[in-house]
Amino acid sequence: MNDLPMAPAESLDPADWTEVAELSHRIIDDAIAHSRDVRKRPPWQEMPEQVRQGFDGPLPRTPLPLADVYEEVVHSVMAYPMGNVHPRFWAWFMGSGNFTGALADFLAAVQGSNLGGGSHAAVLLENQVIAWCNEIVGFPATANGTLVSGGSMANLMGLAVARNIKAGVDVRTLGVAAIARPLRFYSSDQVHDCHRKALEALGLGNCSLRRIPTDCDFRINIAALRSAIAEDRAAGFQPACLIGNAGTVNTGAIDDLEALATLARQEDLWFHVDGCIGALLAIAPKNAHRVAGLQRADSVALDPHKWLHAPFDVGCVLVRAGTALQDSFATAPEYLESTQRGLASGRWLHESGLQTSRAFRALKVWMALKQHGIERFGRLIDRNIDQAQYLAGLISAHRQLEVAAPPPAAV
Ligand SMILES: *Cc1c(COP(=O)(O)O)cnc(C)c1O
Repeated sequence: MNDLPMAPAESLDPADWTEVAELSHRIIDDAIAHSRDVRKRPPWQEMPEQVRQGFDGPLPRTPLPLADVYEEVVHSVMAYPMGNVHPRFWAWFMGSGNFTGALADFLAAVQGSNLGGGSHAAVLLENQVIAWCNEIVGFPATANGTLVSGGSMANLMGLAVARNIKAGVDVRTLGVAAIARPLRFYSSDQVHDCHRKALEALGLGNCSLRRIPTDCDFRINIAALRSAIAEDRAAGFQPACLIGNAGTVNTGAIDDLEALATLARQEDLWFHVDGCIGALLAIAPKNAHRVAGLQRADSVALDPHKWLHAPFDVGCVLVRAGTALQDSFATAPEYLESTQRGLASGRWLHESGLQTSRAFRALKVWMALKQHGIERFGRLIDRNIDQAQYLAGLISAHRQLEVAAPPPAAV
């Protein structure tokens, strides 16, 4: 057993760090050029058949020099992006990324920390990002939250907490079958389909989501909502949660959040706001008034990979009641025992959600917020809304065009 190995043990480390340093510098230079010169390329282009076929290759069994692998990435991957970082990409509603965020994702991977928790800097940094998000939406410092992969997961988390709190039974132990009267959730008919997926996954079914008609501006009709709740109570259902839209994905419509907050309180319902688009209006000086009432929500989903332009993916759910997330998700397995001191003495972030191992997503949000400051992001959001209203003006003035819906946040 005391024979020393003759050759260095096989590992994943570079055989020659100088060589990898040179290649890395080239990758960084290429990445800078890729971002700087984005306007010189079309936002999107069809991939030639030959390039497509490159993705049908067999499972690699033997090594290839990293430089060759990178060559393939340059020609087959970097040349055919989705295009959403391009200034002339106008499809769907999504963020454009930012270079600082890209650097952050690289550094996060280099550090490689697992944000399941523990006592290390990344955990403190994520807590700080959550605290900043709580400040943005106007939640108290005692509120909690967690970073997830995006708005769909953030909404799922919010609705799961709502279900558990409003079920009237211990759903974590007994399951949804123990719920006495079927729960009802309410939103406008403009709600994003991730809520349907969430309620299906939560065992409540698509029918548990009542889609309430909207007014001509695509905002939820509060009178219709009120009658639906009364009707459901009379029919033996248990109204549980109002889902307010702060920016719908079809037209950017923002529900009357103040009215929804008041109704939720009167009816003793959980008030969740899908703020994937519009929660960040709270930082835009000219438009923050459009989301008045957001701070009265019980939970808010927001999406830093949209209007904060963090590279994909990062979403965030915030819950006003400090321990509600842990009450819904925490477990204490022996392999994740907390200790008095040392690495395992820090906060266990996995207790606030479904994931155990978690990416260091917070760094890209933290670095970009530090670099630019929240006020710049707010001004840019204001400018986007000005642009949408300008476009609506041009369309209205055009004889062959018609504005099909009010421009985002125009009401
Ligand atoms: C984008 C969006 C979602 C889903 O968020 P993802 O980050 O794509 O998962 C949910 N609701 C609204 C209003 C959205 O705009």
